[in-house]
Amino acid sequence: MANVRIDRLHKEFRGPTGTVHALQELTLDIADGEFVSLVGPSGCGKSTALRIIAGLEVPSSGRILFGPRDITKLEPRDRNIAMVFQSYALYPHMTVRQNLEYGLRKRGIGKEERARKVAAIAPMLRLETMLERKPRQLSGGQRQRVALGRALIRDPEVFLLDEPLSNLDAKLRVHMRAELAALHQKLRTTMIYVTHDQLEAMTLSDRIVVMNHGVMQQVGTPEEIYSRPANRFVAEFIGTPSMNMIEGELRIEGGRPVFQGPGIAVPLPQAPPRMPATPQATLGVRPEDIALVPPDAPGAIRAKVTVSELAGAERYHFIELGSGSVILRTPATTVLRPGETVALGLDPARLHLFAGAGEDAAA
Ligand code: ATP
Repeated sequence: MANVRIDRLHKEFRGPTGTVHALQELTLDIADGEFVSLVGPSGCGKSTALRIIAGLEVPSSGRILFGPRDITKLEPRDRNIAMVFQSYALYPHMTVRQNLEYGLRKRGIGKEERARKVAAIAPMLRLETMLERKPRQLSGGQRQRVALGRALIRDPEVFLLDEPLSNLDAKLRVHMRAELAALHQKLRTTMIYVTHDQLEAMTLSDRIVVMNHGVMQQVGTPEEIYSRPANRFVAEFIGTPSMNMIEGELRIEGGRPVFQGPGIAVPLPQAPPRMPATPQATLGVRPEDIALVPPDAPGAIRAKVTVSELAGAERYHFIELGSGSVILRTPATTVLRPGETVALGLDPARLHLFAGAGEDAAA
């Protein structure tokens, strides 16, 4: 096992239409045994980062270290990594056992040792009864478990996973997510996981790296990323439904900062550490941080419900506010009727203020 150091990794692709900066100065330390996810929208550079760590892509500059070893220039086979892809890449003509053994056989490991390793891995992935089947005789989830098993059996220092669950249907994905979490608990191998699915990243990871346009936006625990997003991009990317964003202005009134948006004035607990040059600001509030309050409560914001949706155990209420609308999330037992006027309260401790066009968290 090893800690991984990614040091100012940069990758540009030159093409007929110009240069793409797929990865810009990515620096990250991953502790031995940590589960770290790289998450971001399509094209943000997360797969490029993983492929460079795997040795499938050469960086334009920067280094990668596993423990004290600089592995930047090593061939993939010399890195002691195992990679699981979105397409499971199983050999269709081989049985599950032969698929599992393949890497060991190629490294010249004898029959007995191979059988011993398969016997150790198969129960962990509940594949014992399927060893003599071919991949086409397996379900999607079972195939995915074989792909994981093939990586596990090599006992790698670092596990690299590129969207390994995205070919599974929604229910199976949730199930495999839990299996993967349990597997990591048990093995405690360093895992680097790429996904565009923020929920997957939130539920699996010790730490999350949020990326956009090749640039790391924030790194932190799921809790930190969710409750203290560093900028508007992270705030909107993480969480479903997305954080509500209300455009307005930040003013100091009687020595206290107040956010003024269309039809609302919200006193803030403290001024941002550095007041932005222009008053333009965006107030972010998560759908679960808006409360229904009595109409005469101090600071209550009166607004009209437009639509209410039932989503299983909870409801999402769309509420008109100024020229836009916000989403309020409540337990399913809270029933609001379209057209109804409600009073809303915002907990000052759970508000997010973004300066100007919303690039950085200001408070
Ligand atoms: P996705 O979720 O769609 O796989 P991603 O976040 O993994 O996206 P990358 O595949 O890392 O993104 O791509 C980052 C950027 O680099 C994109 O703009 C992509 O078009 C570009 N890119 C990736 N590989 C190449 C290549 N071989 N040649 C040229 N451009 C590339």
